Amino acid sequence: MEEKRRGILKSVVIYAIILAGIFLVIHMLGSPAKKSDPIRLTYNELLDWVESDLKVDRGLSGGNETHTIQSVIIVENELVGARNGSKTALSTSDYDFRCTLPSQERFYDDVKSVYEKVLGETVSPTEYTFTFAAQNPETVGWWVELIPIIVMVVMFALMMLFIMRAQSAGPNKGAASFIHGRTKLTDPSKNVVRYGDVAGADEEKEELKEVVDFLKAPEKYTKVGARIPKGVLLIGPPGTGKTLLAKAVAGEAGVPFFTISGSEFMEMYVGVGASRVRDLFDQAKRNAPSIIFIDEIDAIGRQRGTGLGGSHDEREQTLNQLLVEMDGFTPNAGVIVMAATNRSDILDPALLRPGRFDRQVLVNYPDVKGREEILKVHSRGKPLAKNVDLHLIAVITPYFTGADLANVMNEAALLTARTNQTEITMDTIEESINRVSMGLQKKSHVIPPNDKKLVAYHEAGHAIVAYVIPECERVQEITTIPRGMAGGYTKYMPDESTRYITSARLRARIASAMGGLCAEKLVFGDVTTGSTGDIKQATNTARAMVTEYGMSDLGPIFLSGDHEIFLGKNFQQTSAGLSEEMNRQVDQQVHKLLDEGEQRATSILTENRAKLDAIVGVLMEKEHINREEFEAFMEDRPYNPERAEALRFHPDAPKPQAPAPEEA
Ligand code: ADP
Ligand code: MG
Ligand code: ZN
Repeated sequence: MEEKRRGILKSVVIYAIILAGIFLVIHMLGSPAKKSDPIRLTYNELLDWVESDLKVDRGLSGGNETHTIQSVIIVENELVGARNGSKTALSTSDYDFRCTLPSQERFYDDVKSVYEKVLGETVSPTEYTFTFAAQNPETVGWWVELIPIIVMVVMFALMMLFIMRAQSAGPNKGAASFIHGRTKLTDPSKNVVRYGDVAGADEEKEELKEVVDFLKAPEKYTKVGARIPKGVLLIGPPGTGKTLLAKAVAGEAGVPFFTISGSEFMEMYVGVGASRVRDLFDQAKRNAPSIIFIDEIDAIGRQRGTGLGGSHDEREQTLNQLLVEMDGFTPNAGVIVMAATNRSDILDPALLRPGRFDRQVLVNYPDVKGREEILKVHSRGKPLAKNVDLHLIAVITPYFTGADLANVMNEAALLTARTNQTEITMDTIEESINRVSMGLQKKSHVIPPNDKKLVAYHEAGHAIVAYVIPECERVQEITTIPRGMAGGYTKYMPDESTRYITSARLRARIASAMGGLCAEKLVFGDVTTGSTGDIKQATNTARAMVTEYGMSDLGPIFLSGDHEIFLGKNFQQTSAGLSEEMNRQVDQQVHKLLDEGEQRATSILTENRAKLDAIVGVLMEKEHINREEFEAFMEDRPYNPERAEALRFHPDAPKPQAPAPEEA
């Protein structure tokens, strides 16, 4: 190392010397060329110049003479000088005129005589020597001129030294500091975010409690041989508090929190992404127990092998490294990887496999109650007027995320200050809601009341069809709070009692998928564009039944091509190699299944029209119905809160009374 450094120094010095030489040569060659031939004066001429110069100075000239001498330098018997206006700095190598003096004493005596003759009085030496003060000639001229050159050479040398040192340190070292620079470490003592700061996300917090608990006291879990999830994926629309939640988990557990954003992996140099991942995990392991938080993981975690127009090698390398690292540490090493995304649909399935992000937490738009709690959190420390009713604000802000609500309260505080008020009033808050929702409209998730009604009918349609058909999965919740592209959704409880799905169940699925569209048609007499997803899902199911599962009139026959992966999954639904006749028959069968589903849904909804309307009434008010509420409604029995609680954790809790299904 020492050896190497000396070598560098040596070459820098050599470079500097060469450069200095070049500058000097240029300077020497350049200087004489600049001179506009100096005038050689006789001694008497010089004295004449001195005289006329003095006259001009004192205003004694007839008005014709010009001021000739600007400054002079006397070196022994040589005098050099600059004429007026010719140059700003006189030097011994660059002058306008010169003259050889008999001697300096003689010159000063003669100048004195000239002065006394012109002014008609005796003058003190200070008066004339002042003008011609000889500067120290040997040094000044040369050194003053050398200064800029020296500065340049030194700067150049420093620059070279810097570059060479960076090079000798090697690319790895440079990259490492680069990586360190991007990973943000939040010191546990500085992380003040707690569960209390995340409002209205009770279920999400509940799901993450285990993680906090484990980070606090890992022994409790390791002792009984429990395997804690290595990765927790937070899925939800932007602004719903995913980052906040991850921070709160770290804050509650009191552990270091490493954050990096997925998009930051993807910057600049190839290969940096992978080494960043490696570095991130190294740091986290060194600080275990700790949390790694990868925000916007979809930026790296996209499905591999599906890009059009060449693969994205950098991303694949980064993703592969992430998978390697996640597999590389033992489950209870004390490092938990959290990640957030709003596009879980495009994530590579490898990321979601057991041992990786096997725990998924849906972070959703808050409901009325959640919104009220979020508003409470964000009005902490803000002086609210007496008339402010946070519940009412929650009611009038459907589809606002936590971030939006935080924004509303902040905007209200700003407005209050700007208008010199002392308290935040209801009017101010309403005004800021308008401001924030202007932004929301651009983001296109404010839904007009008419649309809300439509969404309510659509979702209730799905739910009722699913309820009536016994083979359908149980409805877990219905909500008109939008998620992603959907205006609302109906959540089903997956039936995990068997891996094999009967054709009856698939038909039931098609029918319940049609439920939304059929309800729209029944109630409004027309359908909207909101059912694309449902139709697509139903069509895919029907096609698979015909071409893969042998569940149509065509009988057991496999007609589907292998999925083409290179253009994106399932790009080609119909496989090549089918005869035209066969294709026609497949289409016919698919249509038949879809028609059956639609008819079934329509007849169920027609029969249950009263219930449909009633459920929509509740949805319009509460935005959200849980399973027990829904079933109590359908069964005309009172709501049973205990069962509602039981159902949350045991989907098979018995019904208070089992009504016979209306249709098979
Ligand atoms: P995401 O990561 O889901 O896009 P963030 O966690 O960055 O959202 O949330 C942005 C801001 O919105 C937070 O800093 C917080 O002020 C506010 N916020 C979001 N959700 C909540 C919540 N549930 N409770 C309190 N504040 C919230
Ligand atoms: Mg975020
Ligand atoms: Zn639907």
